[in-house]
Amino acid sequence: MTITCQSSFQNNNDGAKPEGCGCLYLVATPIGNLEDMTYRAVRTLKECDIIAAEDTRQTRKLLSHFEITPSMLFSYHEHNKAASGPELIRYIIEGKNLALVSDAGLPAISDPGADLVALAVSHQIPVIPIPGANAALSALIASGLPTASFTFIGFLPRERKDIRAALAPLRSAQGTLLFYESPHRVAKTLVHLQEAFGNRRVTLARELTKRYEEFLRGTIEECCVWLEEHPPLGEYVIVLEGESKEEAELAESSWWRELSIEAHVAHYEASGLPRKDAMKKAASDRGLAKRDIYNALLERE
Ligand code: SAM
Repeated sequence: MTITCQSSFQNNNDGAKPEGCGCLYLVATPIGNLEDMTYRAVRTLKECDIIAAEDTRQTRKLLSHFEITPSMLFSYHEHNKAASGPELIRYIIEGKNLALVSDAGLPAISDPGADLVALAVSHQIPVIPIPGANAALSALIASGLPTASFTFIGFLPRERKDIRAALAPLRSAQGTLLFYESPHRVAKTLVHLQEAFGNRRVTLARELTKRYEEFLRGTIEECCVWLEEHPPLGEYVIVLEGESKEEAELAESSWWRELSIEAHVAHYEASGLPRKDAMKKAASDRGLAKRDIYNALLERE
């Protein structure tokens, strides 16, 4: 690994920036309310040589609202990124300044922007963020759930087994969890979350910054009932409470739950206890009599 240092505003790009090369600007756009467009975003989009957009039709509407006339508007999305990415990088190396925008919010969050950034970084191209609206962080700060530590998950996979596999390692995450979801899947996703995490507190943030912005705060069960009576509409961020102290203590004190009695006793034996004491400890963990453990082991022999 070679260390590189990019100073965005001092033009001392570690000497590694290719001569005459342009910059990649990551420009945030509103997630609903056009007043969330920043002055700097407008200026950057006006000054850039090329704008690359996830959905050029959508971006044209935004540009026309802010009276921005792009010299070149390029399409860059999941299905053309393999061809479009290197082409965009070539333009930047030739000296063009390129602004990347997504449909809404910060580019490179739950869209292929991160791939373009990685490509730019690998070519020593300066990457300059132009911050602004973001759905996940807006939902988090208004959720009422802890903000000191959080994990952004984004969209879950589609298949049940993949969802389970994605959620299992998050069970013991103590920070708040942030998910993106569409209205068609939000109720089902809550069911998966309840299966994986139990009936934790959750905030559903809907239509952020828009006319029908709404925060639904309750337990997962309460939110499921609400959604049965109020069919989901609009875009959602699901903000889920992390593992509580009580849950962590319970998990710690019942680490053996997944083990068979045999494996439980073997665990203590492996830690150096004589078999008799290992059986005693396993019995005490499980709230059983030592005889029950003995009988269970006999049955297996
Ligand atoms: N790049 C965006 C950002 O910075 O937040 C996220 C784009 S991601 C492809 C789209 C998802 O973000 C939606 O499915 C929804 O979960 C969430 N989202 C976007 N706008 C939203 C809004 N106004 N209210 C609630 N969620 C929103």
